[in-house]
Amino acid sequence: MYTDPENKLKYRKVSPFEGVQLLARWFLGKLYGQVVQKNVFVKESTSSSSSSSSSSSSSSSSSSSSSKVANVGAVVITEKDKYNINVFIEMLTAVCSVYYEIGKEVNTSNLNFSSGVPKIEVTPDEASFIAQYNHVSHAIRVRYSYIKDKLESYANAWKEFKNLSKKNHLSAVEYARLKAPFWEFIGRQIPASTIIHELQHALFKNSHRDGDSHGNFTFSIDGTTHTSVPFEKTCEVVYDVIASRGLWMRIAKIVALL
Ligand SMILES: [Zn+2]
Repeated sequence: MYTDPENKLKYRKVSPFEGVQLLARWFLGKLYGQVVQKNVFVKESTSSSSSSSSSSSSSSSSSSSSSKVANVGAVVITEKDKYNINVFIEMLTAVCSVYYEIGKEVNTSNLNFSSGVPKIEVTPDEASFIAQYNHVSHAIRVRYSYIKDKLESYANAWKEFKNLSKKNHLSAVEYARLKAPFWEFIGRQIPASTIIHELQHALFKNSHRDGDSHGNFTFSIDGTTHTSVPFEKTCEVVYDVIASRGLWMRIAKIVALL
């Protein structure tokens, strides 16, 4: 059995300022799904080095000449940025993997855990939303422009979470919930954090562009049927069931081995 610290401290308090920001992000980021401009990642220096990462499927950061930097749509990143993007993807992938692992252990209907963990991508494209699940590619794409100022703090906090996990799982989980900056992106909040929101789209197999993707949904989980529940509430219901089965303790156990 996993102990369940999540149940003791479900909500992390956010300041009024953070709250306003979160709501603004939710409205601006979640309601509209237009890609404003296609971009590509371009490395800051022209020195050749490692092959491009999995950070984006549609763009390559390799071997761009400096003249290309001047092209419209080039998003210049340093080696450090690229590293932080990869840590960010590792973090999201770890959380999503355990989320799905636990989801498959619970009795559910109308929740699509069986299709596997969505691919996580960071894209340089400009868009009016932070992240978007695409049901065709079964991928969650996060816009670099929205996270670039926070990537370093997310990556450092994830490293700290990993270090703590190697010593004590519980203290790692408490760090994640109470102190880690990445919690706003992947943790339990109201409104739902970005990744929980997008995972819920994946579980319902709908994208932001699919009609009323934030309408009401009927599903069952862990023996309870939830009828015609607003999308935002479905995020909380599913997250809470998975958290109550030790989501974060299991993440800590896994990353302790990384
Ligand atoms: Zn949405």
